[in-house]
Amino acid sequence: MIEPLRIFKGAPPQQAQLPLAEFLTWLGRPALFHLPGQDRSRCRVLVGGLHGNEPSGFFAVHALLKDPPELATDAILVIGNVPAALWPPGFYHRFLPHEEDMNRVWAGGLHTAQRIAAAEILRYLARHRLEAVVDLHNNTGFNPIYTVLLRHTATRLALARHWTHRHVRYEGVSLSSFMEVADKFCPGVVIECGQAGDPEADLRAYEGALRYLTAPRPWLNERAAVEEAAIYRCVARVTVPGETTIEFSIEDVGADITVRPGIDRHNFEVLRAGAQLAKRRGKARLLATDNFGREVTNDFFEHGDGTISLKRDLIPVMMTNHGRAAKSDCLLYVAERVERETEPDDHPATSAPHGRVARWAR
Ligand SMILES: [Zn+2]
Repeated sequence: MIEPLRIFKGAPPQQAQLPLAEFLTWLGRPALFHLPGQDRSRCRVLVGGLHGNEPSGFFAVHALLKDPPELATDAILVIGNVPAALWPPGFYHRFLPHEEDMNRVWAGGLHTAQRIAAAEILRYLARHRLEAVVDLHNNTGFNPIYTVLLRHTATRLALARHWTHRHVRYEGVSLSSFMEVADKFCPGVVIECGQAGDPEADLRAYEGALRYLTAPRPWLNERAAVEEAAIYRCVARVTVPGETTIEFSIEDVGADITVRPGIDRHNFEVLRAGAQLAKRRGKARLLATDNFGREVTNDFFEHGDGTISLKRDLIPVMMTNHGRAAKSDCLLYVAERVERETEPDDHPATSAPHGRVARWAR
């Protein structure tokens, strides 16, 4: 039987010198690399590629393996859904059609190889003294780099500061995602590095990872991180329901809903009440649901004669520019600014030589 997860300890394998696609072909499946650092009593985690169509995480982890920096502590690097990334035409499939989304398999049963790999990764992490964990992703649409946080604490903001000061707090239902489990161990952030396929997003992912893994502490000046932070929370998810079709086009191409291409350029901007979001045929509708799954479409959208417009000012985030992504995942999230203070830290940062010891790991 093929092992669901490949584990490498010590120096990276020689094959890391291969170009990324060849390296992934050689790996063939999810892999974990445990690299020794200066302080071997502490460990930082970096995950990339849980989604096969998001190259930045694959790129960053591969670059670190190819030319390992002087690591401040041990580093556990994980490459996720290798088979999905390899499936033609390459970096196109979020996950394989007959499999689950690899960022939805971190809790629950162990009935697939992918779930067994996820459980093995968690078991491996549980045996080590983790001080921080970071998971790299891309968006399908144009977005500036931002994090997704489960709590907006000083340690998480300071951890994210290696990449960005823009944060989105996730308050939706549990997804069995990697971060929902890993964040219980030590401070964790998801970094959305920018649009998939943008070389600058890949570079940002790598440069942030380099800072994160080589800094004496994984947290970068908590006070500044809190002062600079722009924090948003998602209040609704907007989907394209049922049989309704959607296209991104200037012309009418026969879809039920037609959105102007390039609208994703407005992610994180305030769109004003009355602005037209899309054209529609007949009674075609978008569907907005709040964090509890309740329909709130009419709070945000006016479905008029041939158009869908905004009923009030709103900030779109994670808005896509692809019909396939809009249909299979969602068109956008509606966000609002979080003005309240940061939350008390559940995992206080410390500069003590041994860092934070994850409570659960003892
Ligand atoms: Zn992703």
